[in-house]
Amino acid sequence: MDLGRSMDAVTDNGNETPSRRAGHLFDLDGVITPTAIVHMKAWERMFTDFLTSRGVSEPYTDADYFAHVDGKPRYDGVRTFLQSRGIDLPEGADDDPSDQAEGAETVRGLGNRKNDLVLDLIRADGVAPYPGTVAYLDSLEPTARLAVVSSSRNAEEVLRSAGLRDRFEFVVDGNVAAAESLPGKPAPDTFLHAARLLGVDPADAVVYEDAVSGVAAGAAGGFAEVVGVDRGAGEEALRERGASIVVTDLEELL
Ligand SMILES: [Mg+2]
Repeated sequence: MDLGRSMDAVTDNGNETPSRRAGHLFDLDGVITPTAIVHMKAWERMFTDFLTSRGVSEPYTDADYFAHVDGKPRYDGVRTFLQSRGIDLPEGADDDPSDQAEGAETVRGLGNRKNDLVLDLIRADGVAPYPGTVAYLDSLEPTARLAVVSSSRNAEEVLRSAGLRDRFEFVVDGNVAAAESLPGKPAPDTFLHAARLLGVDPADAVVYEDAVSGVAAGAAGGFAEVVGVDRGAGEEALRERGASIVVTDLEELL
């Protein structure tokens, strides 16, 4: 074992085998299902149309997605990206229509437009989980306690569509976070809430995340391991924000 790995494992000696932990908290989009791609497409279409309608020449890019949007609650993502471009829109309300007229947009209306695009894509194409994630779930002890922790408000629908809803005792999604007034990732609260529901100590639980905001949430929550799944965020960025292990697919943990 090299020095880098052993320093990562400073709190325990089980760093190489997170599968032995009591609790396992999985992000959904990009960890269990390839729906991060669906979200990326929907964000790109929504922001590109919006910027074009305002005559902004600097386009929305994948770099914007990873820096400002990925893993966060939807409206936080809209707000953060707009701030990065110096665009100030009114916050609006959750039920703002997704087809707001040009020039009358709100943060929440834009977020709702993006959500409609996601649901259209999911319902049109269905959702197949990552085979490596299914293999990893199959490999966990029957006594392991499992939850999904997702910023998405569509997590239940996506899990059912992927045929995996019954694998998880709890789904702490965007609806639960709103109902419980829990701040979203990168705050650790949604992960800590899931650990409480499962009755597991964060020091004996693992977070699996593909977004830098989610990895940061796991690190802030004091979890035993934070497994960064690199689906595009980059190993360095994931490690910088607190991933103790980085893989490109959960199959690597088998
Ligand atoms: Mg994700």
